[in-house]
Amino acid sequence: MAPTTPGLHHVTAIAGDPRANAEFYVGALGLRFVKRTVNHDDTGTYHFYFGDEQGTPGTNITFFPWTDRGHSGQFGAGQTRDTAYLIRSDSVDYWADRLASQGVAVDRSERFGETVLGFDDPDGIGLELVGSEAAREADAKPWADSPVPADHQLRGFHSVTLAVDAFEPTAEVLTDVLGYELEGEDDGRRRYRTPDGGPGSAVDLVETDADRGHMGVGTVHHVAFEAADVHEQERWRGVFRDHRLDVTEVIDRKYFQSIYSREPGGVLFEIATTGPGFTVDEDVDELGSTLTLPEWLEDERERIEAQLPEFEGPTAETGGN
Ligand code: ZN
Repeated sequence: MAPTTPGLHHVTAIAGDPRANAEFYVGALGLRFVKRTVNHDDTGTYHFYFGDEQGTPGTNITFFPWTDRGHSGQFGAGQTRDTAYLIRSDSVDYWADRLASQGVAVDRSERFGETVLGFDDPDGIGLELVGSEAAREADAKPWADSPVPADHQLRGFHSVTLAVDAFEPTAEVLTDVLGYELEGEDDGRRRYRTPDGGPGSAVDLVETDADRGHMGVGTVHHVAFEAADVHEQERWRGVFRDHRLDVTEVIDRKYFQSIYSREPGGVLFEIATTGPGFTVDEDVDELGSTLTLPEWLEDERERIEAQLPEFEGPTAETGGN
């Protein structure tokens, strides 16, 4: 049985200062700080997750804040250029005003018949808010304590835009491996979508003349797609191997199980399971309020906490919990 073409699960990027990162995603964008843990592969670095009220897959942007010890990244081919969130069409003016009042420079444009607000986060990571009727069907859950009123809150992902030096190698992975379909072209951009066409199901490709990018502060580390469960994920491992793509073993990320494969255009793809989700170690009311560690790191908590950079926020004034 062929696995079902996956929509987006999360996007993970590298930030600098943890406080500036949390203040922006919670205080300015109104996402909930749903989990603070550490990078399992580098426990001296936090791993922050921002999403809807419950951290529903398809709403979470996550960060490794490297602080000023980390080197800057260089944007280029083989990287995610923009991560786009859905907003309601009638929320576009609200967001244009809100971002302007926060001192964020916004570029407003039309694309595939939808209005796009483009801007950078404090580390230069490309973000977009796309006014779309699809926002009404999205299953993102509003967060009651957000500084953004429920009707205007981000409704989960709209799409990601991957910059590649040539369309074909990455397009083939999207279509022949993952089962995406070419939906259309607009101004040199190709949009691919899952056959079911739900919200958060588009991947855009743009070609760039830039050299291959370098991972570091201000760049996206990987894009994760969602598999319903570990059986579906195992089927994906088989599909990747059948297409002669390297793919990792299953890795336990506590909140989901993950496999990774770097597509030939250079972008690191992950397939992450829907569950068990963020309420596996904190109640919904408590999400993000404490430093959580997986069982296999709990014995080292004292050492890990001592190594982490100082971080208090986000503050109550900016809507943090
Ligand atoms: Zn990931």
